[in-house]
Amino acid sequence: MKTIVKANRAPADFIDEGIIRSHLESAGRAKVDRTKEVIEKARRLKGLDLADVAVLLQCNDPALMEEMFHTAREVKESIYGKRLVLFAPLYISNLCRNNCAYCAFRSTNKNVRRRALTQGKIADEVRYLERTGHKRILLVAGESYPAEGIEYIYKSVATIYSTREGKGEIRRVNVNIAPLTVREFRELKACKIGTYQLFQETYHEPTYKQLHMGGPKSDYYWRLTAPGRAFEAGINDVGIGVLFGLYDFRFEILALLQHIRELERIYGVGPHTISVPRLEPADGSYVSEHPPFPVADRDFKKIVAILRLAVPYTGIIMTTRETAKLRAETFALGVSQISAGSRTSPGGYTEGESATAQFQLGDHRSVDEIILDLVRMGYIPSFCTACYRLGRTGEDFMDLAKPGLIKRFCLPNAIMTFKEYVEDYATPSTRNAGLDAIQKHLADIPSAERRRETEERLRRIEKGERDLYF
Ligand code: SAM
Ligand code: SF4
Repeated sequence: MKTIVKANRAPADFIDEGIIRSHLESAGRAKVDRTKEVIEKARRLKGLDLADVAVLLQCNDPALMEEMFHTAREVKESIYGKRLVLFAPLYISNLCRNNCAYCAFRSTNKNVRRRALTQGKIADEVRYLERTGHKRILLVAGESYPAEGIEYIYKSVATIYSTREGKGEIRRVNVNIAPLTVREFRELKACKIGTYQLFQETYHEPTYKQLHMGGPKSDYYWRLTAPGRAFEAGINDVGIGVLFGLYDFRFEILALLQHIRELERIYGVGPHTISVPRLEPADGSYVSEHPPFPVADRDFKKIVAILRLAVPYTGIIMTTRETAKLRAETFALGVSQISAGSRTSPGGYTEGESATAQFQLGDHRSVDEIILDLVRMGYIPSFCTACYRLGRTGEDFMDLAKPGLIKRFCLPNAIMTFKEYVEDYATPSTRNAGLDAIQKHLADIPSAERRRETEERLRRIEKGERDLYF
């Protein structure tokens, strides 16, 4: 990570609406040749600037969009190959003092039974997830903690790491909680979290103010500057995102890019991941049931493709909010991480989804069903957590994430962690399909030596060893 140079300007004025509007306006007049030029530039994996991205956002010509999708598939394939990383969210608490108009956990919603899981209950949920084969958890909580305050989160991370079930263990805990101070972020880092994840929801300040009335989340700038504070506290992997449906996605993507470029400028590295949640119906929330700017499936695919082209080395996360069909289409366009078998209520894994859920899900299949489907589509499901445990985070990860290198590390690690899944958790049909897939993907490891090493480790996994990685 580069030395931190403090931004020498007013807080968070890097989201510049005037610049965004003028890019969108001039891109609206872009000719076919200019669009083709941008797509060609993206193919070289150098990323795109704001003006380029605006051109793609304004492109609605079916043939050019097909070309854009085609290039996004190429970029995705050349950098990430066929691997898809799996994780599960773990909602530990729905206590919340904010009033986000779109969320069932908002303070004014009286239909939700409020609860913060005890450490014992969190351990039960973790054991459930371990029995399904998960190795990565995304801890999620509302912005209000039991009497012990933020310590509750730190303790919960420790509980997750220390809970074991058979051969199961959680090797990376990512966290999606409200913005913290730099001191608190340091404490969170000391808990050995993986990624700190926070979505701006909407970068459009007037819309943000309308939808977040009450509670600390009503402070747009406190949220916008949180990824920077996390970096300052030494958390190298930070995830950002937009909740699509709240405002015009064209504006949101350009603002997201301004945010990314600002983080790169100050901290020498951008976000580790971008999440692309779309609004889902949440209990009693008019906004969530009638999104002010609904994003059609085609536009949603366009969002994923454009992000893949604009920031080729940044992970894109898709959750079970989306249906199986749409998820399949977007994997090829650029998604690199997905959730599987998710529940969005505290206690939801061991007690079933209840009146405490945050929103409705689009994909209700089990982890094993999703895995079988991925394998049949030609993907290699990965439970890898190696980079973060070997300190390959932040800028180091980005240096590594050059074409070919991901294949040298990530593909063998995907194969080995999937082999563990096949040995320990797969149903017979997934096991059969999985073993075939492993053979096939081994052949894609570019270096013969790395391939031999991987094969040797697969034999060790068969004999009972676990947690082998490069
Ligand atoms: N409370 C913290 C916060 O708001 O940042 C973290 C947890 S919150 C449950 C995680 C994310 O859920 C939010 O950032 C928001 O984008 C998403 N979310 C809330 N309501 C949603 C809905 N109806 N549909 C889809 N995503 C939603
Ligand atoms: Fe609370 Fe987060 Fe839901 Fe807003 S999105 S009501 S802050 S849990």
